[in-house]
Amino acid sequence: MDRRKFNSTLALGASGITLASNVPMACAMGTNQDKKKLGIALVGLGGYSTYQLAPALQDTEHCYLAGVVTGTPEKEKIWVNKYNIPKENIYNYDNFDSIKDNKAIDIVYVVLPNSMHADFSIRAARAGKHVICEKPMAMNVEECDAIIDACKKAGVKLGMGYRLHSEPYTQEVKRFVREKTFGNIRYISADAGYYSGSSPGQWRLNRKLSGGGALVNMGVYAIQSLIYGTGENPISVSAQEFSTRPAYFKETDETITAQFQFDSGAFGTIMTSHNVNANRLHAKCERGWFELDPASTYIPLAGRTSNGGLNFKQESQQKLQMDDFAMHILFDAPNLAPGEMGKRDMMIVEAIYKSISEDGKKQALNFEPAYGFSDG
Ligand code: NAD
Repeated sequence: MDRRKFNSTLALGASGITLASNVPMACAMGTNQDKKKLGIALVGLGGYSTYQLAPALQDTEHCYLAGVVTGTPEKEKIWVNKYNIPKENIYNYDNFDSIKDNKAIDIVYVVLPNSMHADFSIRAARAGKHVICEKPMAMNVEECDAIIDACKKAGVKLGMGYRLHSEPYTQEVKRFVREKTFGNIRYISADAGYYSGSSPGQWRLNRKLSGGGALVNMGVYAIQSLIYGTGENPISVSAQEFSTRPAYFKETDETITAQFQFDSGAFGTIMTSHNVNANRLHAKCERGWFELDPASTYIPLAGRTSNGGLNFKQESQQKLQMDDFAMHILFDAPNLAPGEMGKRDMMIVEAIYKSISEDGKKQALNFEPAYGFSDG
């Protein structure tokens, strides 16, 4: 069910049967059913939390900024003052586990360097909190499995920070694919990259903290584009790496290209880079084409097709994403970006690195057809 359809169902049921029949599910998942809005605690108060998530949480309908977890004591006062957060909802990395006793926090949103995603997601699940984990899900597939298992064991929901699944241009692309608006997809390409040049000390260039370079940072968007742009998981991938500034990119990949095959006969390419500004999805179909450019920036996205331009209302993607996840918990709405989606993408990332290490050798990918797709 897409967001628009789900919202209208919700509106219909808001004072009656549909909502009421879903409440026991929220209760069964350990959520306080009397709460109108779920409390979110952001873990890691860097750029993304500060400039995107916290502002978006001022406008969300089904969740709100209830707490923060930070390793930097100076930030505590700033966030308390700016967002009126009660002192008892402020945690640091050491006392984080005591969040289990805090009924005001329903969801923990992990927004830390990639090497810390698994640790904090697992600790959040063990504390009985629902989890949103930022992309890339973790450092490797093994860690993804550990996060998924911990959430299953604790009976909490797990969502990825893949904001685009809640975004109208992306949802329109998914509709084209589902309804075969332009017929079958024959070729799809996606680019996701930006020029990084001024900050050699950043964690994204430190392999121990990032787990990889452009591929794990921006490449996951291009991989995602190929998958929702075809509606299929790929069956193989071959990849190449390009390096022009090895003195800057000492430990992590600068630019990667990869070619994918799909069971339907469609094929696709991605380019991801920390050296090239690029952000685009383009699909050639039996009866025309569709395109998003940009395809994965925050706002505004833009798109056009062989039938004409696309024009959707621009709203904070993070607001839509966090509300969708809260609705998943509260009303059993679809989980638009489940943990398995993050794990699937990490399996593809690992296959790409393996192909590069084997001089571009094609790697088979053996996903079940629906593995990692959202249930929306
Ligand atoms: P950032 O560098 O701005 O912030 C990182 C935060 O982690 C800081 O608060 C820092 O103090 C803290 N931290 C803790 N230990 C650290 C360490 N050892 N080294 C460095 N920082 C440490 O990063 P960001 O852009 O906020 O990214 C955080 C996460 O969010 C990443 O996983 C990133 O991929 C993801 N992200 C997602 C999106 C999206 O659109 N979904 C956008 C940006 C970032």
